[in-house]
Amino acid sequence: MNTINHENFKLSSLKHNPTKKEIKIKNAVFGPNEIQLIMGPCAIESEKQLEEIANEVKNFGIKIFRACAYKPRTHPYSFQGMGEKGIQILSKIGEKYDLITETEVTDTRQVKMVSEKIDILRIGARNMQNFELLKEVGKINNPVILKNGLSSTIEEHLNAAEHILSKGNPNVILCTRGIRGFEPLERFTYDALSIPILKTLTNLPIIADPSHPTGNKELVLPLARAQIASGADGLLVEVHNNPYQALTDSKQQLNTNELPNFIEEIKKVAQATNRKIDLTKK
Ligand code: PEP
Ligand code: MN
Repeated sequence: MNTINHENFKLSSLKHNPTKKEIKIKNAVFGPNEIQLIMGPCAIESEKQLEEIANEVKNFGIKIFRACAYKPRTHPYSFQGMGEKGIQILSKIGEKYDLITETEVTDTRQVKMVSEKIDILRIGARNMQNFELLKEVGKINNPVILKNGLSSTIEEHLNAAEHILSKGNPNVILCTRGIRGFEPLERFTYDALSIPILKTLTNLPIIADPSHPTGNKELVLPLARAQIASGADGLLVEVHNNPYQALTDSKQQLNTNELPNFIEEIKKVAQATNRKIDLTKK
C-alpha cells in the first residue's frame, strides 16, 4: 500500500488523534457506537411534498431529514432546486416534525443563511475541492457532511476535510458515495474498501450514500448492507413518497412504504457488527 502524509491532515489523523470522534447534534450522535440514518427526498419540490415525506420518515423513527434546495445539475435545463424558498420550507418542516435537518450548500454566499436555519450542511461530490466553500463552512459550527469527489482519491478527501477543520469547525463527517468507474451499469462505482481504509487513517465519523452510486432503487438495499458491514457510521438515503414523479433522481429514490423493510434489513447487519441504529423511541 502507498504511504500517505499524515501531516497534511493532522487534525483528523488517527496517528495524531487516536480517539474516534463523536459529533453530537441535538439528540443524535455520529460516532463509532450508533448508526445514524439520514433520509429524505433528493430535492425539495413543494411544501406539501416535503411535509408528507417528513411525516412518514418521522413515523419510522428517523431523526435526521435530508432534502436539497440547491441542486448542482448536469443539464442546465433540468430542475435546479427551490433555492432560499426551499431552505425556508425545510426549516419550517424540521421544526414542525422535530426532525434534525440536513441540506447541501453549493456556494459560499449560501453558507451563513443556511447555517442559521438548517442543522447539518453538506458539501456534495461536485464541490469536494471547492476550497473557498470548504473554508466558508470551516467558519461555522454546524456539522458538515463532506462527500468524496467524483474522481477523488482518499487522500484528497481527507485533505478537503482538513480545510474545514483547520478553519475552526471541528464537526466534519465524511461520506463515501462512489467514484467514476468504467462500468456503465453502475451510475458510480462504490469502492467497498473506502471505509475500511478511511477508518485506519482518520478519527472522523464516516457515513455512506447507497443511493447515488446505484441510480436504481432495487440496488440501494444491497449496497447499503455492504456499506454498514464495511463499517459505515450511518447512511444518507434518498426517499420520496412518489418516486417516479420526482423532479430529480426519480429512479433511485426509495418509496417511503419500502422503509420498514429497509430499516429491518439494515438492523440485522448492524447487529451482526455489534452496533445499533439510532431511532427515536416510540
Ligand atoms: C445528494 O446527495 O443530493 C447529491 C447530489 O449527491 P452527490 O453530491 O453525491 O452527487
Ligand atoms: Mn439525488
